[in-house]
Order: sequence, then C-alpha cells, then structure tokens
Amino acid sequence: MIEFYGKKLNTYRANLHTHSTTSDGKFTPNQVMELYSKAGYDVMCMTDHLKTNHIADIDPHGMLVISGIEMHPAGGRIHRSHLLCIDVPEDFDISVGEYRRDGENRMQEVIDAVNAEGGLCFFAHPYWCGFRAEEIAALNGLAGIEVYNTSTRYIGRAYNMQLWDELCDMGVLLPALAVDDVHRPRDLFLGWTEVCCEERTTESIMAALKSGSYYSTQGPRFKRISYRDGIFEAEFTPVTSAIGMSNQCRGFCAAAPNLAGDGSVPEVTSCRFDMRDLFAPGKTVIKCNYFRLQIIDAEGRHAWTNPIPIP
Ligand SMILES: [Zn+2]
Ligand SMILES: [Zn+2]
Repeated sequence: MIEFYGKKLNTYRANLHTHSTTSDGKFTPNQVMELYSKAGYDVMCMTDHLKTNHIADIDPHGMLVISGIEMHPAGGRIHRSHLLCIDVPEDFDISVGEYRRDGENRMQEVIDAVNAEGGLCFFAHPYWCGFRAEEIAALNGLAGIEVYNTSTRYIGRAYNMQLWDELCDMGVLLPALAVDDVHRPRDLFLGWTEVCCEERTTESIMAALKSGSYYSTQGPRFKRISYRDGIFEAEFTPVTSAIGMSNQCRGFCAAAPNLAGDGSVPEVTSCRFDMRDLFAPGKTVIKCNYFRLQIIDAEGRHAWTNPIPIP
C-alpha cells in the first residue's frame, strides 16, 4: 500500500523487461516465471528480442503475465536501438522493428505501431546503446525510459540518471522504469518497478504505466509521495541519502552521509522540500522546470520517483 499523490493505492512488484529461450535468455519462459514468483513478484512482461511469446502456454506461477517484445530498429547515428514494447498483441508485426541494412532511423515508426495497438514503448538502456538525450527528445509518443537496467551493469552502463535529467532539462519529463532485463542467473532481482494502482489486471497496470503511476527501485520502498501547495514530501523505508534533483546544479539534499560535517551517517525515513522556498525569485537565477526525488540506502541501492513539473 502507498499514498501516491493523495490516493491510497496498492503496489505491484513488476519486472517489465524479461528474456527467455524464446530469444537469447538462458531460462525457459516457465523457469523465469517460477524464479520471479518465488522472489515475490506480482507482474511480468515477456520481452524477447523480435519475438512474442504465446502467453497462454506459460505457467504464470500466480503472477500477471503481459505480452511484450523488444524491437531493434536502426536509430540514425546508432546502428541498432532497443525499444521495450509492453502489451502488444502476440501477432504483432515485427517487420518495422527489425534492423535493416539501410540504417534509416525507424524508431518513430516502431513507437507509432506500438501505440496504435494500445501498447506502450519505453526506451531501453539508452546509455548502454550510446544514445544522446536530444536523439530521444526528438521522438514522439514514448512512455518513458529505463533509469536502471541490471543486465548492462557488467559493462558499467546500468544507470541512466544523467540522461534522464538532460531530457527533463529539455522539457521532456518522462517517467522511468528499473528492470532486470534478465537473460541469465546473474541478472536476477536487482532492479524493479513498483506499479501503484488499484488492481492487478492488465488494464489497471497499463493505465498506471501510461500515467507514470509508479516508482523504480533497487530495494528502498516509498510509503507516501505527495506534492501539494508547492511542498513535496515523501516517506520511505530507512535510507542514508534523500536528494531532490532539478535542473543544472539544483540538487537539494535533505539527508546524506556526513552532511553535518561530523562523519555521521543518517538513517532517514522521510523528507520535505518546500518548492516555494527553493525556487523563489531571488533564491535562484536558474529556471527550474522539474523535480524528482532519489533515495539511497546504506547498501547503495537507489529508488527514484518520477519527475513532476514545477510551475
Ligand atoms: Zn536491450
Ligand atoms: Zn532486453
């Protein structure tokens, strides 16, 4: 349960980027479901490379399983993009998402095709692919990006926070998922999305993903996120850092190790940022257009709220 911007909602632990032996994963669809179910997950989306799965053939092990696919159209300067497509029909036409030798940028065609089917398209691991913020900002109809991707951490490109902030700075306030992008045992259970909605149905989960009603995490959990009358507040499981992020050098620290300068490591479970004070005329010469919170626990595990616009 979470109080999410004034609404009491359930939270559902989701891994929305999942591979199996249908493409290059090491686990069969049934094996990967069993693993995630035993780890306490509620929702899975199967996203094999350029192949959908026949969901009715998969034992869901008590979870909700959504049909998806990872598409790879050429991305202009980058020869091959990775687009995470959630809730697409099993007979989805993949021809638009295949890499073609002419290298022509076809990312927008994939996004349009997914949206036309009522699905959602997220930009997967942009830092790993080598994309720049302006190349993502030029796309229309994206549902979000991945802020964290477990399978790309082995080459040092798991986090996309800087690129996320660059997009926000350009006025493109996209929400962001954390995913395992599981292929093999080393990818299991290190980042997930907590979907905040009323019930565990495809309709309710997809509506929440579309509206940004979720947060992403590697461990810490939010209990309340609120923004009212210019005041942002959050409550969460114990962490050692709570940092509000905004444009340029505008980071706002509520708690961090040795913030007091005495070597102390705090344990905090709430924070409060008064935007009227932080962004008041005269307080800053920087025009700020967004705010998001990231918290980090003693093990270095992050959780991220989605960005909200600052008027
Ligand atoms: Zn990928
Ligand atoms: Zn993938």
